[in-house]
Amino acid sequence: MINATAISNRYAASVLASLEARIPWETEFLQSVKEVFESICPVLDQTPQYEGLRILERLVEPERVVSFRVLWTDDRNKIQVNRGYRVQFNSALGPYKGGTRFHASVNEGSLKFLAFEQTFKNALTGLPMGSGKGGADFAPAAKSDDEIMRFCQSYMTELAQYIGPETDIPAGDVGVGGREIGFLFGQYKRLTHRFNGSLTGKNLSWGGSRLRPEATGYGVTYFLEHMLAARGEDLEGKRVCVSGFGNVAWGVVKKVTERGGRVITLSGPDGYVHDPDGICGDKIAFMLRMRRGGLDAVKPYADEFGVSFHANQRPWRVPCDVAIPCAIQNELDESDAHHLLENGCRYVVEGANMPVTDRAFDALRTAKIAFAPGKAANAGGVAVSGLEMTQNRTGLAWTAERVDETLRRIMREIHDACANAADRYSTAGDYATGANVAGFVRVAEAMIDQGAV
Ligand code: GLU
Repeated sequence: MINATAISNRYAASVLASLEARIPWETEFLQSVKEVFESICPVLDQTPQYEGLRILERLVEPERVVSFRVLWTDDRNKIQVNRGYRVQFNSALGPYKGGTRFHASVNEGSLKFLAFEQTFKNALTGLPMGSGKGGADFAPAAKSDDEIMRFCQSYMTELAQYIGPETDIPAGDVGVGGREIGFLFGQYKRLTHRFNGSLTGKNLSWGGSRLRPEATGYGVTYFLEHMLAARGEDLEGKRVCVSGFGNVAWGVVKKVTERGGRVITLSGPDGYVHDPDGICGDKIAFMLRMRRGGLDAVKPYADEFGVSFHANQRPWRVPCDVAIPCAIQNELDESDAHHLLENGCRYVVEGANMPVTDRAFDALRTAKIAFAPGKAANAGGVAVSGLEMTQNRTGLAWTAERVDETLRRIMREIHDACANAADRYSTAGDYATGANVAGFVRVAEAMIDQGAV
């Protein structure tokens, strides 16, 4: 149950209460709305006209939700049925933009939470992108390439009519990488007779951007470096615990290692591995092989490199300076937060979207350690998607140096926007409040400019 009394502004509390009464089962969506509303109370107190314009009621209602049946045939020639969705959440700042998740946990509520987070994340990038998210309750693990292709084709057959370079531009997310984007794009092209920038995360040779695969993890690391610098520190010698072993974790491991830090854990649905020497060199390449193996497990890393494997456990009991959860929402709970604090962890950076539960977040906030919310720290992925859109529009391919330089600038600006917004509302150093306030103001003002639509 969401506790609306934590919201000091009467207008925000009443909008949350009515949302909770109407859709009590959409718990992750309510969690993310509550977290944003708590932060923006001082802004609402100072800007009473938002209530007259019903900005919050409009902000929590997706502009459109498309849901459809996805029918496909498996390798044994059996018909399978899944549910597919696209949540087109807010187009105040640009066409809908956000990833596609193929995971058993996907439903309308979880995609609403992800698209709501995306609204503020995309606003923080400073690029002209509205927000959206899509996906299906399809688990790609252990599926053959042919099955994945047939699934992607069927999913796109329904979706194609709703997307386009000026309408809605999906990308990847959990369970959707370069292979899936390729299959989705192929089907989009076949149905529409258009070769355009309707998807991002494409492979380099046919319209993708350099550094898009690395972008989320690199951006997380750049954000962390700014947090460290604000406290007179750097990454050199820092022990970093990472969860997950997918695209975000991979980018984090690469960049943290390059910048002198030591990533000592990875995790999967089967447990975690602890590599005290740090994940570097060939071990990083092995992460990619593990993912392509399609097993959805990290034990093979322990077997290959002779390090310890801890079945069915999360990595947060391992002493570290920095924790970067990169797996899935609500993966780090209150007891994990206490273990991190007891072991002296001083930085928690969300690589995934909302991986820290609300109670864990409260524990970290009470301890006043440095915390970066996903909507700020992991915005590098969608930011480079924005740069991919720019390259597609102009027909040019940027160098890796240019993409990296732009990504660094965007992450620095996001860090500074969060820090400045936090300062303005007397919550200095609170990046969570700063991210919500800075993102909200940009979206709300654009909504007002465009009238009651
Ligand atoms: N799925 C990523 C995210 O959560 C990337 C979205 C995109 O590139 O559009 O931000």
